Amino acid sequence: MTRHGGRGHTVIGPEEKAQYLAHVTAGVPLDEAAAKIGVDRRSINRAAAADPEFATARAAAKAAGRKVRANLLPHGEYRYIHGGCRCTTCRTAASAARQNRRTTPPDPTRKKTKTPADTGPPPSRSGTRTRTKETTIIPLNRSNTRPGEGIPPLAAVS
Ligand SMILES: [Zn+2]
Repeated sequence: MTRHGGRGHTVIGPEEKAQYLAHVTAGVPLDEAAAKIGVDRRSINRAAAADPEFATARAAAKAAGRKVRANLLPHGEYRYIHGGCRCTTCRTAASAARQNRRTTPPDPTRKKTKTPADTGPPPSRSGTRTRTKETTIIPLNRSNTRPGEGIPPLAAVS
């Protein structure tokens, strides 16, 4: 069944869809893959919304394309984390980087020692000293952490 786009919408034919899927499967970024068949990404999204079969095929093509792109990364920590590679090179790089992070103090600019009481200001008034407690926010990059792969322990601050 042939449909007219109406309202100027680009209708992507089966051939273009196949071409698009081939590009995506080969690891071409989605915008580029769309451009290669002469449409933009929104047209692809519309086509996927109208054609569940195409949507399924596109999801598979995207997954395959991600793998292709990951395989183009040089072996190392980045590929260990983002490409999921577990070769010796990647594992060594990742554990070395992890080790580095552990031995590096979290924040060297942060004061570690508290002023001893005897050098501090005398406790004036009736003991209403407001203590400001610093909240340390540790951003967790979720994509960097896999289950079972521990977050480096926080350095003990005493
Ligand atoms: Zn590797």
